[in-house]
Amino acid sequence: MLEAIRHARLGDDVYGEDPTVNELQELAASRMGKDAALLVTSGTQGNLVSLMSHARRGEEVILEAECHIYYYEVGGISALAGLIPRPIRGHLGVLDPRDVEAAIRPKDIHQPRTSLVCMENTHNRAGGTVWTPEQMRAVYEVAKEHGLSVHLDGARIFNAAVYLGVDVKQFTKYTDSVMFCLSKGLSAPIGSLVVGDEEFIEKARRVRKMLGGGMRQAGIIAAAGIIALEKMVDRLKEDHENAQILAKALAKLDGIRITHPVQTNIIIFDVSDLNTTAERFIASLAERGVKASQFGRTLVRMVTHRGIEREDIEYAISVVEEVVSKLRSA
Ligand SMILES: *Cc1c(COP(=O)(O)O)cnc(C)c1O
Repeated sequence: MLEAIRHARLGDDVYGEDPTVNELQELAASRMGKDAALLVTSGTQGNLVSLMSHARRGEEVILEAECHIYYYEVGGISALAGLIPRPIRGHLGVLDPRDVEAAIRPKDIHQPRTSLVCMENTHNRAGGTVWTPEQMRAVYEVAKEHGLSVHLDGARIFNAAVYLGVDVKQFTKYTDSVMFCLSKGLSAPIGSLVVGDEEFIEKARRVRKMLGGGMRQAGIIAAAGIIALEKMVDRLKEDHENAQILAKALAKLDGIRITHPVQTNIIIFDVSDLNTTAERFIASLAERGVKASQFGRTLVRMVTHRGIEREDIEYAISVVEEVVSKLRSA
């Protein structure tokens, strides 16, 4: 990627003149089966740009109660986009189309207008679990019956595609727009893409500019992004294999309870049976060089990605074993 960055052909992308950005955007649109794409600085910016391009201030957005847009994007959906989130509890992050339908506002002078439904695949807080294309289709069809737009937070949509062994278009045909990350599993240093039809991307380009995301010689970012899309998708299965090995070893430890099915590269487990908190548990891991994140008072998340090799998994397992056995004998 660093070599590609060094040799990238550059231009001013605010004027649409960076050939490397244009190449990445064309590649992304064609991979996702959409007309057009837009490079953005981050997944958070991509979701915000999408929300603001689909919906107007004061309108309501139906989304899953633990989704990233609601949970981890600093409230931008309200603070910046001026939208009202309508969180609906899903099952493993997947919305029930009947719940979506029930949440759509009737035409009534007192109520806000529902304008958008968001899905997240894979679902981060549900442990990287996958919506099947059929599950997406069910929600998409309800939304379309009621004239709503649909956005997919597909930060990790390629993990879903690799898990089910299907082309990513099997998912993206059931949404109007998609945000996906070049960073994370696809291993690029910076960047995400928003894809959709021409009219949507034209709006998104203006919104991105307003949010300060219009970049000049952004080809240095896009050059790495092209490699991410062309060479890094297949490697996601290594992350999934590593997550399986880690999860199986963790599941054997007394006091650790894996709380969500491990399908892709995320493992969430509960440490309450060890009479400790996630914060203290994570601090003990960190002292031994293993990083994890806190996902609740007693919930810990681990993620596998490029640069975490099989021997690192073995090491992480040995560290967790040590921390668990210390806690059990305390
Ligand atoms: C990481 C992530 C994002 C945001 O991406 P950033 O580049 O960190 O802003 C959005 N949605 C999901 C599901 C994510 O996991």
